[in-house]
Amino acid sequence: MQQTASGRALTPGVGRRVIIAGGGYAGTTLAVKLAKGLKPGDDLEILLVEPNPCQQALSELDLVAVGPPRPDFCELWHPTVFKDLPVSICYNRIDSVRPDDKTVVLGPRGEGAEEVGYWRLVLATGAIAFVPPVPGLAEHAVTMWSVADAQELQRRIEEQFRSAIVLADRAERRRALSFVVVGAGATGMEIVGTLGQMLPKRARAFGLDPEDLSVHLVEGRPDILYDLPAPLREKVRRRLDKLGVVLHLGAMVERVDDGVVHLADGRELPAPVLCFCGGAKADPDAVAWGLPADPSGRLVVDGRNKIPDREDIYAIGDIAAFRDPSSNRTLPMLAQFAIHQAEHCAVNILAEARGREPEPFEPDMHGEFVSVGPTWGAGWMLKGMHLTGIPAIIMKRLTYVLYWWIVGGVPLAWKRTREMLKMFR
Ligand SMILES: Cc1cc2nc3c(=O)[nH]c(=O)nc-3n(C[C@H](O)[C@H](O)[C@H](O)COP(=O)(O)OP(=O)(O)OC[C@H]3O[C@@H](n4cnc5c(N)ncnc54)[C@H](O)[C@@H]3O)c2cc1C
Repeated sequence: MQQTASGRALTPGVGRRVIIAGGGYAGTTLAVKLAKGLKPGDDLEILLVEPNPCQQALSELDLVAVGPPRPDFCELWHPTVFKDLPVSICYNRIDSVRPDDKTVVLGPRGEGAEEVGYWRLVLATGAIAFVPPVPGLAEHAVTMWSVADAQELQRRIEEQFRSAIVLADRAERRRALSFVVVGAGATGMEIVGTLGQMLPKRARAFGLDPEDLSVHLVEGRPDILYDLPAPLREKVRRRLDKLGVVLHLGAMVERVDDGVVHLADGRELPAPVLCFCGGAKADPDAVAWGLPADPSGRLVVDGRNKIPDREDIYAIGDIAAFRDPSSNRTLPMLAQFAIHQAEHCAVNILAEARGREPEPFEPDMHGEFVSVGPTWGAGWMLKGMHLTGIPAIIMKRLTYVLYWWIVGGVPLAWKRTREMLKMFR
């Protein structure tokens, strides 16, 4: 018999089972909203399938990527989030989906694989870092899509400081202290900004001269942060300049050798530490589930976030290719959309359980903020109000607080806000 996170038993065979695959922003929000929306008489059983016992809050990764080490900050423990809610958690993976049988297969294929039936299935398995087939890139670069990635970047920085401090020759030391980030989208910007702001302090603490550090940002397109309006991009470029980050725009990485990035125009950048933030792709396992996918591998959904012709399967978050009817563009992979889709999906599933029709989803972008270092940001809100510097970073961090409040109420929001504030002391 399965147990809820709070230990309550779920009676097999009673209730219509909603399986949520993936406990990231979308899956966790959905499980919380569904559980909180249940009324006496609703016969829904909520089963969250997620391989990790905690949600990795990816948008908070920049806070832990450069150190000092506090990797657990952006981990949100599911047992804590669901402790008083009727959500059953299964720390496993969805291996395959059998839509005709209304079942999913959990765990590794073969012996031990478990088939579980559903009344509604919600696919929220997210995305992974995308690394293009540039020679040497995958072998030498760290990506930024998990706490493990952030810890690996920290480890490499630490190791590099140790290698540099034993070198007597200044030129060699400078070569050893060259840090390269590839990709000037939001993720790359957050990492390079944090490197630019934090590394001098860390180098000094190590006994190194910050003058010997260099931080490079390589971008194939002619500008940074294409999603932001031009005046904000200009301000971010000035901020990078202030932090001493060297920008290489219109520069394509041709190959990577041990410790060196070779650009297509013939330039070479010493890169003993290289972080690749060049993009993401939808969970690659999903295309094997026999459901329609767009050319990028995201699952096609209709206006209600349902898979076409599969009334019992929803897909939300990064895995779903939701076409915004107002712009006719697919929604970008952003936590804010994952959360809104999840909230809407909860309302729709509860409506269906009570015999009503699901409503179309109407996405609305409330704003967008990027951090460029832990204490500076840039972005917009309220359909065009631009903010930079401290007000923008406060807005960005407030989006974290809002999320903690959505999934954990005031106690979680208060606890995490205090932890976050301690990090800036
Ligand atoms: C460094 C970084 C910074 C970002 N900053 C921002 C930001 O500031 N603002 C913003 O809006 N967005 C930001 N994003 C994007 C945002 O994090 C994603 O859009 C968001 O995580 C999508 O949520 P999701 O629930 O779809 O996927 P995820 O949060 O990625 O969750 C997917 C979950 O599915 C699980 N899973 C995968 N496969 C299976 C399987 N087969 N079975 C069961 N479970 C499975 C995974 O373990 C994971 O927990 C950032 C992303 C990164 C990497």
